[in-house]
Amino acid sequence: MSPYNRRLPVYLLLDCSESMVGDAFSALNSNLSKMISDLKQDPHNLETVAISIITFSVNARQVIPLTDLYSFQIPKLTLGSGTALGAALKLLEQCIDREIVKTSAERKGDYKPICFILTDGEPTDKWENIADQFKQQISKKRSEVIAVAFGPDIDTNKLHRISDTVFVVKNADTTTFSEFFKLVSASISTASQKIETVGYRAIDPSSIPNEVVISTLEDRRDFPIMDRFIFLHTRCSRDKKFYITKYEKKHIQGGMHAFQGIGSYALDSFDIGTEHIASPLKVSTELLFDSKPCPYCGNKLYAICKCGGIHCCPESKKEVTLSLTCPWCNQTDTYGFSSGGLDISRGAG
Ligand SMILES: [Zn+2]
Ligand SMILES: [Zn+2]
Repeated sequence: MSPYNRRLPVYLLLDCSESMVGDAFSALNSNLSKMISDLKQDPHNLETVAISIITFSVNARQVIPLTDLYSFQIPKLTLGSGTALGAALKLLEQCIDREIVKTSAERKGDYKPICFILTDGEPTDKWENIADQFKQQISKKRSEVIAVAFGPDIDTNKLHRISDTVFVVKNADTTTFSEFFKLVSASISTASQKIETVGYRAIDPSSIPNEVVISTLEDRRDFPIMDRFIFLHTRCSRDKKFYITKYEKKHIQGGMHAFQGIGSYALDSFDIGTEHIASPLKVSTELLFDSKPCPYCGNKLYAICKCGGIHCCPESKKEVTLSLTCPWCNQTDTYGFSSGGLDISRGAG
């Protein structure tokens, strides 16, 4: 019987929620590519490392099954609405059950897997019980699990429910994305070099990047600002193509707040789920200002169809009623100006 070539399995769970839209998502993709090609430079890694990628947003998906590093190809990642952390943990457990070769009487199986979970926002599904079970069954027994909070919008105590090893990337922006991948890369390389001799510790304290700090349960982080950003799912009335508009919460007089438009982003694919228009999350149009133009046609206004779909809209004189075809439901209707606020659907973040 030929000896089994034991692998060091690495699972990357990447939050692909709409809050990543724009430069952050580009940075996520480019840093992932760079890390994979850097890892391929080291023969130790090529001998042992196998990588899988799981993304989560509206639901969780294993984009790449556990694949040996030398044949690993960078996948196309797709953003979606929401942060289905519970679904991602469940899927990870299933993948570990299915993909990790167990040690038997005849052969030694794979090494203990290392799992990295990167998230930038609050979970949007029922994740608590799943996390508690995951911590007992996986984090404390079968895998090294490293949870990483990217930025200030997640309560790190939630991540401690998944694993005792929690990190925070400070000053989260597109440049600090690389810090997460440095952490992953250093951990993998250390593990793959030492695995034959001393076993491994998934985190070598000397290789923690500057912008990454260890989070302990005692840390009292300020609770994340609720709805620091909101996102509208929009389509172009001319091209029917999808885009996301992003608004940031601003304080206005009297302790009130409103949302200022800070960007609109064209997306060629997006996991919208089934409830986008019927989303229970609403925002009043009265609270939105400085809306950014449609990235496809430059229209500065937006309109809301009877179906609830939001789309860009050409400017016209107030007394003229516009006839437009909604790119969501394909119904043609006349549109007037609304004087008061209107509650419209927004994304899950
Ligand atoms: Zn447009
Ligand atoms: Zn419609």
